[in-house]
Amino acid sequence: MNNPILNRRAFLQGSTLFLLGPAIVAQNSWAELTSAQPKLRIGLLTDLHYADKPPAGTRYYRETPGKLEKAVQRLTADKVDFTVEIGDLVDAAPSVEDELGYLKAINAQLQKVPGDRHYVLGNHCVQTLTKAEFLGGVAREKSHYSFAAAGWHFVVLDACFRSDGESYGRNNFTWTDANIPADQLKWLETDLKKSEERAIVFVHQRLDETKQHSVKNAATVRKVLESSGKVAAVFQGHSHQNDYQQIGGVHYCTLAAMVEGSGADNSAFARLDVLPQGALKLTGFVKQKSYAWST
Ligand SMILES: [Zn+2]
Repeated sequence: MNNPILNRRAFLQGSTLFLLGPAIVAQNSWAELTSAQPKLRIGLLTDLHYADKPPAGTRYYRETPGKLEKAVQRLTADKVDFTVEIGDLVDAAPSVEDELGYLKAINAQLQKVPGDRHYVLGNHCVQTLTKAEFLGGVAREKSHYSFAAAGWHFVVLDACFRSDGESYGRNNFTWTDANIPADQLKWLETDLKKSEERAIVFVHQRLDETKQHSVKNAATVRKVLESSGKVAAVFQGHSHQNDYQQIGGVHYCTLAAMVEGSGADNSAFARLDVLPQGALKLTGFVKQKSYAWST
């Protein structure tokens, strides 16, 4: 969908772009639905790239803690049930010790948001660190897994694998070579089959394109998602800019990066409201766009 405004199943209300998915909802009942009490509220943040180093290009590493503080305040006030950090939480450090220090500092801030937290691995998370070191730093065991909440199924994927199946870690990879390996794909297929519920997927690298920010075997992954008949939406980061497209009945939403730009007018984070009848509403803050979808 190149220009969703021109699609008759898309419309603007306030600053929110409403996109109607496979299920057709009349606009008046749709308005009612999107103002309904959410079943679940989820905080979403991506590409924080925290590091104690001077800016490089448009990336202002040292400003991330200030931006995150505002996001923590907003998501706390909005009473999110849990938060998903969609990758690239930290940027490269000169040593493992320094990197663990960056991770500890930024995670201490992120932990202030009430509710559980989920961490998607991004390429920058494992540039200086190994996966085990990163996961240890955020007190998590697995880089891909699923969980259930409020009648929905949530899947965290790890695309930080080279084409030859080797796991990323300690700068042993080229960032454009991102893949979901065969064993994880098999797991995904089985996991979605076992679940009775609609699903939402989180992944750092993109599953909706074929360019450099894409998971190389994205088409194969999409086939698994589509054939399950259960996946409503995929949230991803990595390319740092707002993007959206619908493929095979699945909403693919690329979130803007928190690290981009300097000052109060530059940051990005979101709150996802899971509404009755499968409707999803994403409220974007600062540079993050807002959307609402039927699923
Ligand atoms: Zn990034």
